[in-house]
Amino acid sequence: MMQIDLAGKVALVTGGGRGIGRAIAVSLAEAGAHIVLNYRSNASAAEETLAMIAAAGGTATAVQADVSQAADVERLFKTVQDNSGRLDVLVNNAGITRDTLLLRMKEEDFDAVIDTNLRGLYLCTKAALRSMSRQRSGRIINITSVVGITGNAGQANYAAAKAGIIGFTKSTAREMASRNIMVNAVAPGFVETELTDVLNEDARNAILNSIPLGRLGQPLDIAGIVCFLASDAASYITGQTFVVDGGMVM
Ligand code: NDP
Repeated sequence: MMQIDLAGKVALVTGGGRGIGRAIAVSLAEAGAHIVLNYRSNASAAEETLAMIAAAGGTATAVQADVSQAADVERLFKTVQDNSGRLDVLVNNAGITRDTLLLRMKEEDFDAVIDTNLRGLYLCTKAALRSMSRQRSGRIINITSVVGITGNAGQANYAAAKAGIIGFTKSTAREMASRNIMVNAVAPGFVETELTDVLNEDARNAILNSIPLGRLGQPLDIAGIVCFLASDAASYITGQTFVVDGGMVM
């Protein structure tokens, strides 16, 4: 049985301070990777995640940066290069929602979601490829959503960004394959985080009824496949999107 061993690897997780990103960062650290934890504004949540990683026997540093801003992304990747001299795994996890029906959706609501969820992922991927191309190895794991596959009323902006991530994943996987860089996406269903806290009881029950495994997802449910995709066990997989949703979308 192949073990997931990421010792000696450097992994950057965007939006790693809270929610799904936190679970991914802690799990990658447990597998032995050194973690660079990016967050946008919640420094205390990022501090808490650093403490969790240290308690698990891992190592990590936190870097503030808004992934939608090119200058911030430039500084983020320069810090990684200066401190670690390499980058093996990039997890593009940072994401936001601005849910509303299309008729009421303002341009700001559309732009904000595209800027963080899609443009941010483009900026980070491009920056990561500089180190990874040089090393001739790397793994990029993009967090999309089942909504990018099925669509969802009230989330046209978010669904467009998440569907865009799937196409972006396939294109970069094709471009980077010859350099031994694998690019895949993970599409979570409904996961309990602050992002989904806003849903009312009726909406939660409706979602629950549509999940064959009979429960909502937890951040750790997503972390497992990310560790697998970062590992040697996944060296023949690229350009794929893996749905992790308790069977909601089949
Ligand atoms: P949370 O709202 O719990 O956490 C979002 C994280 O992203 C925070 O760490 C936040 O930083 C960071 N972030 C937001 N905007 C930026 C930015 N511009 N630059 C850098 N970091 C940023 O969300 P989740 O953990 O639920 O979601 C994580 C990912 O998973 C997202 O891409 C989301 O779309 C996706 N997803 C979530 C699902 C769910 O049900 N929860 C389902 C499907 C997909 P800070 O802490 O500083 O605010």
